[in-house]
Amino acid sequence: MNYARFLTAASAARKPSALRVLNELVSRSPKSLISLATGSPNPKMFPFKTSVITVENGKPIHFDEESMHRALQYSQSAGIPELLSWLKELQIKIHNPPTVNYPSNKGQMDICITSGSQDGLCKMFEMMINPGDNVLYNEPIYSGTLHALQPLGCNFINVASDNDGIIPESLKEVLSRWKPEDARNPAKNTPKFLYTVPNGNNPTGDSFTSNRKKEIYELAQKYDFLIVEDDPYYFLQFNKPWVPTFLSMDVDGRVIRADTFSKILSSGLRIGFLTGPKPLIERIVLHTQVSSVHSSTFAQMLVSELLYQWGEKGFMDHVERVTEFYRSQKDAMLAAADKWLSGLAEWNEPTAGMFLWVKIKGISDATKLIEEKAYKKDVLMVPGSVFYNDCKAPSPYFRASFSLASPEQLDVACQRLAELIKENI
Ligand code: PMP
Repeated sequence: MNYARFLTAASAARKPSALRVLNELVSRSPKSLISLATGSPNPKMFPFKTSVITVENGKPIHFDEESMHRALQYSQSAGIPELLSWLKELQIKIHNPPTVNYPSNKGQMDICITSGSQDGLCKMFEMMINPGDNVLYNEPIYSGTLHALQPLGCNFINVASDNDGIIPESLKEVLSRWKPEDARNPAKNTPKFLYTVPNGNNPTGDSFTSNRKKEIYELAQKYDFLIVEDDPYYFLQFNKPWVPTFLSMDVDGRVIRADTFSKILSSGLRIGFLTGPKPLIERIVLHTQVSSVHSSTFAQMLVSELLYQWGEKGFMDHVERVTEFYRSQKDAMLAAADKWLSGLAEWNEPTAGMFLWVKIKGISDATKLIEEKAYKKDVLMVPGSVFYNDCKAPSPYFRASFSLASPEQLDVACQRLAELIKENI
């Protein structure tokens, strides 16, 4: 793989920060080293001394003064080593990427910690997009991605999708305006990457089938584009067996996968991680060196302590408990929708995640109804239009999240919505 062609000039120009390099050297050195090099503040002057955090299904996590000194101090930009190695094992166990043992310049798998997956996605987009670059994606799309991409001035190329994800024939059709060899000619401006949310798409709740992924990966090989696999709902899949990921089929080193602990451990801790070819992960880490410097050491140590205490089995048991919770929430949402919205609206059962994507019958645009009138009836949803690049285009859809409301509240929300729809169509 020639990664150079995917990088913006700004990303290609990033160099390791001299002070960060020293900082990382100190963290790897024996205690006998007397470092007068780094500008790390003296943690004895920090007011926080020790901490104990109780854990459901686990022992309390205790940070004594020494651990607290480390937790409150600067750390490596890629992430703390013990968390990285735990996550590497996890990725190998779950996805077994073919790239694990490749030479580093040939796209060997690497990992870095990000402050939630949003931070990783944003840095990834800034690494690759010049104004006018073509980007493949499928609408409706997570609005956080739209807002990260739009200011970069890329051309959005929507590829048709259905309940099984992107339709390979549609992708073939879109790509037919190029020849495979055009990827070697910058003047032809072939797409640099395809972005997609393969499980429990936000907002539709749909997931890709395995065959679709294989066909799409083959097209990525043929036309030489990368795949950005944004998979925050991977651990919230309602059906087993889990569908193999793009990362698991990545024989070339052309997949960058964004994972996050937001949905299963904590969204406020802001811990996510990117897995992808080393030459690209390196660029992201260089960006982190000069932006946030690193994700919170305290948050990384907390997550790491928990994962080592649980082990992989304990982690997977936790994932199972979380999925069961969201499954019962989803069932309550569907029961409420069936009871009140049948005949007034249409929806599909979500296969993962926390959203129901609903189409109101008999209207072409639900924006005003959802944005203004529903709020006055004491119920709040997101109008479908925000999930489209052209957010002014009419959309009869809305997104309802079933993560926080109780089953009783979901029932009342659907009742209020049914009244509203009846009054307005
Ligand atoms: N991608 C998708 C598809 C999401 O739904 C979200 C969260 N809403 C994110 C990325 C970002 O999540 P976080 O930064 O909390 O990991």
